[in-house]
Amino acid sequence: MIRKNYEYLGSVRSAIRELFEYGLRRKAEIGQGKVFDFSLGNPSVEPPASVNEELARLIKDTEATALHGYTSAQGDKITREAVAKYITETQGFAVSAEDLYMTVGAAAALSCALSALSGPGEEVIVLAPYFPEYKVFINQAGAETREVLCDPVSFQPDLEAIKAAINERTAAIIVNSPCNPTGAVYTRDNLVALADILRNAEAEYGHPIYLIADEPYRELVYGGAVVEYLPKLYDNCIVCYSFSKSLSIPGERIGYLLVSPKVEDRGRVYAAVCGAGRSLGYVCAPSMLQKLVPACLGQCADIEIYDRNRILLLEKLTEYGFEAVKPEGAFYLFLKAPDGDAEAFSEAAKRHELLLVPSTSFGCGGYVRISYCVSTEQIKNALPAFRALAEEYFGDKK
Ligand code: PLP
Repeated sequence: MIRKNYEYLGSVRSAIRELFEYGLRRKAEIGQGKVFDFSLGNPSVEPPASVNEELARLIKDTEATALHGYTSAQGDKITREAVAKYITETQGFAVSAEDLYMTVGAAAALSCALSALSGPGEEVIVLAPYFPEYKVFINQAGAETREVLCDPVSFQPDLEAIKAAINERTAAIIVNSPCNPTGAVYTRDNLVALADILRNAEAEYGHPIYLIADEPYRELVYGGAVVEYLPKLYDNCIVCYSFSKSLSIPGERIGYLLVSPKVEDRGRVYAAVCGAGRSLGYVCAPSMLQKLVPACLGQCADIEIYDRNRILLLEKLTEYGFEAVKPEGAFYLFLKAPDGDAEAFSEAAKRHELLLVPSTSFGCGGYVRISYCVSTEQIKNALPAFRALAEEYFGDKK
């Protein structure tokens, strides 16, 4: 029997992938440099030099069977110890190798966490706009997605709306700061207040409500924005981390899941995470990439390029008459559709060879997402097209 839900997932691409594939076809038709693809969050900045140096060293110095063989399911002990030491030192929050589970990127960490901690009859809260794959992972777990819109001006969490959405069926909430697609970095005050709300709800309903911190953009912040470490604010916290964006290696698929040592029934939760990974068929995270991790902790691709792109785009698009909230992190600009129609705006942009993802797929209308992890040259070359798009909407009054 072909499972209908999987057939559906495998036949329809996400709006982001759809636009990316369209871009590939369009580039073949009219030429590479004539299409301005801002669809995917695929970093264009080189990985830090240490990534390739360490991989070369590993290949040269490590016995092949050890380098390429299976690791233990939860990950190489040396890697987990190195990550635990790094978190303990940089966050001032003591964790050990036993709290860590190495994963195939943040996506696998999320699917393991959700499968381990939510199920049929339960709800997982996501803060809209959100990374669209959350819904796929929540469905896989058998739970239901409960969308709660962020504040429409700041894109910070709307605390009252979250409070109203929590009920006896709430199993978890996913918090993604810095946020894809808005670039918002949630303030400490809001996160402290959110933790209070969750603790009160746990007391009221008599079961844990897990806070799943999705952190692939932790290091990608600008202008001194601070990303809070959620296990310090809330005990029942699971962190899903990825090296995809910080090290510019998204295709290599390496990340980790942290079960905070303060989680209630920590041992059972950790076992459930390992069991979820096992039943989802992950076996272990890529061995060579696990062995790369210790040498690259604390390193980051040169994010000054993203910062320059951010400033340039925001300045020029505002000058042309568009509106956007200044992103403080990640590498996305969330641009308001001038007439509120995200799909029509994305289609209009396409006619100017600009590939901008409509916000509907992120669970809210009225915007497009511009992924600015591209070369600054691509942005400069795209500016006349953005200006022409602005003229289509605002006339030439700008
Ligand atoms: N979470 C968010 C918010 C993302 O934007 C992404 C990837 O773009 C992921 C998770 C998945 O990251 P990974 O490549 O590490 O699986």
